Amino acid sequence: MLNADLHCHSTVSDGMLSPAEVATRAHSQGVVLWSLTDHDEVGGIPLARETAQSLGLCFVAGVEISVTWCNKTIHIVGLNIDETNKTLLSGLCETRYGRENRALAIGLELEKVGIPGTFEGALSLAGNPSLISRTHFARYLVERRVCKDVRSVFHRYLVEGKPGYIPHQWASLESALSWIHAAGGLAVIAHPGRYHLEAPKLVALLDQFKSMGGEGIEVNTGSHTPAQYLEYGKIAKQYGLLASCGSDFHAPKESRMDLGKLPPLSHDLIPIWRDWMI
Ligand code: AMP
Ligand code: MN
Ligand code: MN
Ligand code: MN
Repeated sequence: MLNADLHCHSTVSDGMLSPAEVATRAHSQGVVLWSLTDHDEVGGIPLARETAQSLGLCFVAGVEISVTWCNKTIHIVGLNIDETNKTLLSGLCETRYGRENRALAIGLELEKVGIPGTFEGALSLAGNPSLISRTHFARYLVERRVCKDVRSVFHRYLVEGKPGYIPHQWASLESALSWIHAAGGLAVIAHPGRYHLEAPKLVALLDQFKSMGGEGIEVNTGSHTPAQYLEYGKIAKQYGLLASCGSDFHAPKESRMDLGKLPPLSHDLIPIWRDWMI
């Protein structure tokens, strides 16, 4: 199995390296098939592609779409997309639209618990003002020494039930899949182990995803334990889904899993790149 890394982020969303820097790092870490999958945004693709090509690194365009499914946020990765497709672009634009108001609301909630100025702080750390993420709030609170690291900020302030959490309605699963398919790409359920779905809910997600024409599932991801590589590998086979592999790298030091450092997909899985001309 080749060293594929098909999920990571740049400064165009909540990563800390530019698309060119991510390409260079992926290449130097041994990645041979790479995709940049920024949240709800494809603005980094041209530079990522250009840099990858100059390094002889095989590149496919990608995106990670935020979805609300059964009142839960889930992420759907689109791979090998045409990033200039109008349907995809307008869908992503619509998905990004609510982020600024959500960020203002997060700022107000954090102010109520005695931490003012976080909207401005998060915005100042966002490489793309149309994409303020909770990650930018987390980094700002670490900078202010409110918490020791990004993980603790999420735990104390930014997840459901905590004072800075603002519920948000993202794209529907059906819309996300239709945009990815309109752009000629393959749809992949990102880091399924992170949603903590009870078995019947997971089955419902897989059934709906399949019935909407979804193609793949992340098996090896920086969010899964080795036991989960096996667990979701089994599910991929059971549901006839193609298997994907990606670090979900955001930043050196911050990310647990670096680019290119995941173990390769097991040989008994069908990789998402099976039909790609690579
Ligand atoms: P958002 O799309 O603004 O809600 O932010 C989601 C992003 O926050 C994810 O893509 C991760 O990068 C990051 N994130 C979510 N949960 C955690 C967590 N528990 N610890 C660290 N980062 C997290
Ligand atoms: Mn992220
Ligand atoms: Mn994600
Ligand atoms: Mn991601």
